[in-house]
Amino acid sequence: MKIAVIGGGAAGLMAAAAIRERSPGTEVFLIEKNDGLGKKVIISGGGRCNVTTGLRAIREVLSKYPRGGKFLNSVMRRFPPEAVHAWFEAHGVPLKIEDDMRTFPVSDDGHDVVGAFERLFEGSAVRVMLKRHVIRVERTDGGYRLIFKDGEPLDVDRVILTTGGQAFRHTGSTGDGYAFAESLGHRVTPLAPSLNSFFAKEAWPKEVSGLSFAKARLRTKFAKAYEFTGPMLFTHRGVSGPAVFALSSLIAFEAYDAKAPMRLTIDIFPDISEDALFTRLAELFREHPAKILVKVLDFLVSRSLAETLCRELGLHEETRVAEVPKKDTRRIVAWLKGIPLTVIGRGAGDEFVTAGGVDLKDVDPRTMESKISPGLFFAGEILDIDGFTGGFNLQASWAAGRVAGESAVL
Ligand SMILES: Cc1cc2nc3c(=O)[nH]c(=O)nc-3n(C[C@H](O)[C@H](O)[C@H](O)COP(=O)(O)OP(=O)(O)OC[C@H]3O[C@@H](n4cnc5c(N)ncnc54)[C@H](O)[C@@H]3O)c2cc1C
Repeated sequence: MKIAVIGGGAAGLMAAAAIRERSPGTEVFLIEKNDGLGKKVIISGGGRCNVTTGLRAIREVLSKYPRGGKFLNSVMRRFPPEAVHAWFEAHGVPLKIEDDMRTFPVSDDGHDVVGAFERLFEGSAVRVMLKRHVIRVERTDGGYRLIFKDGEPLDVDRVILTTGGQAFRHTGSTGDGYAFAESLGHRVTPLAPSLNSFFAKEAWPKEVSGLSFAKARLRTKFAKAYEFTGPMLFTHRGVSGPAVFALSSLIAFEAYDAKAPMRLTIDIFPDISEDALFTRLAELFREHPAKILVKVLDFLVSRSLAETLCRELGLHEETRVAEVPKKDTRRIVAWLKGIPLTVIGRGAGDEFVTAGGVDLKDVDPRTMESKISPGLFFAGEILDIDGFTGGFNLQASWAAGRVAGESAVL
């Protein structure tokens, strides 16, 4: 049997590995248009490659996918994060779980992740075909024919489509697979970028750029209200960090730009009620009556944010706190519990994925096989599946890739 895996990224690598390990005699053509495998895997996680998550409860893991969590249930149980962890360690890539549960190679080098596959394929029935650009996939009597930009067509019995999404296009993921899937009868849901930072209209974030919070609650509202609580930071142009990425993922299909900005509020004291924070600030004012406002605010927030707060609320930094009226104390507290920001655009984040993709209704979640075109399998970002940051996107690609490979040789 001949199987073509189109796309040598995370999902394609794991699909080919599964075939190699399950059915060593099966001829596999791992086709990649770049001059090397796993270009995006190598640059992922800032070059360190956040391979998977340290979380172990499948239900919790599945909750990290705004789209596709339910569909992933079966493959995730077959190849869960601990199996991914064990697989890489067994293939010569020791991993470590960091405090925030992200899992990385001990070497902090994404090349090692791809290297494990390269070693596995060496001298095997997996033929790695680099610099081969598939432009069309056609059904034949018994299987499929791949047409390349250059060179002879290739006839195979089965195809695993792992061409990825269309984020970070320079890595080779240009969304070609959506057209292949459509030409074989599949529907592709609307696509949108996800896991991005936010650009703000206000200039003040620049003044506090780099300031981070371990826990902040972000809220916004379109026809529906959204919120997410987690780590975030201010950047030169707005806000970023895990909570911002997660919120961007939840609102991936909402429209916002300079003409129709999004109102974002940031509560940097999510565990304290407004009343409790007021009491705390009033106490500080009583304890230090002779100090100036900006100095007392220093007890609660960084100096740069205290200065921003005063500017934004039109308060004099140098006012002695004994003279700050109660209504201004209330305004200060309200600001800290809901710092307003006008978001006018998406910024590219550390991680960046495509939300939307091949419609899950037409794919069997137990085998990853097409319900429309037998012998065609899917895995990875090409599907309408995307997760939060923290290793969840690669985990989904490994799990679905593994199952697609195993199912393709049945
Ligand atoms: C900067 C960045 C950092 C990230 N960091 C993380 C992280 O740390 N952890 C995490 O979980 N996720 C991360 N992600 C997301 C994760 O990398 C992707 O979700 C994952 O790589 C998707 O795997 P895939 O196999 O579906 O697609 P890809 O890895 O994108 O692979 C698809 C491959 O198919 C090839 N291809 C496409 N079309 C054709 C064609 N016509 N012919 C031949 N070959 C073709 C492409 O060249 C590409 O190599 C990051 C993403 C980015 C952009």
